Amino acid sequence: MYGLLISLTACQSPDNAQAEQTSRQETTVTADTTKREPRPKPEYYNFKGVERKRVYICMESTEDTFHQQHDCPVLITCKGQFRNLILARAIEDFDRYNCETCSADLGYIFDETYAPY
Ligand SMILES: [Zn+2]
Repeated sequence: MYGLLISLTACQSPDNAQAEQTSRQETTVTADTTKREPRPKPEYYNFKGVERKRVYICMESTEDTFHQQHDCPVLITCKGQFRNLILARAIEDFDRYNCETCSADLGYIFDETYAPY
């Protein structure tokens, strides 16, 4: 009886260890993908006509967008300070892109193929 118990335990433990390791790996992968990195400075932009527009930016190192609405759901999650400045400065001095939530209509600023004239 004693010998049977030992062999049962020996059979089960490798499976348990493997399952535990697998779930730990998945957790690590999820953490990596949720980590946010700001995009590099925009390579192309043309804000002609809207350069004096007032926008808001969040002064967090992980943020790379500007907002037209002060109550934008994305801007509200800002944990640092935010600033109100003109669009030209937001792009040229702070390397910001348009927020997809409140400023999707300004996406053309960074679209090289957009030619209104
Ligand atoms: Zn926004």
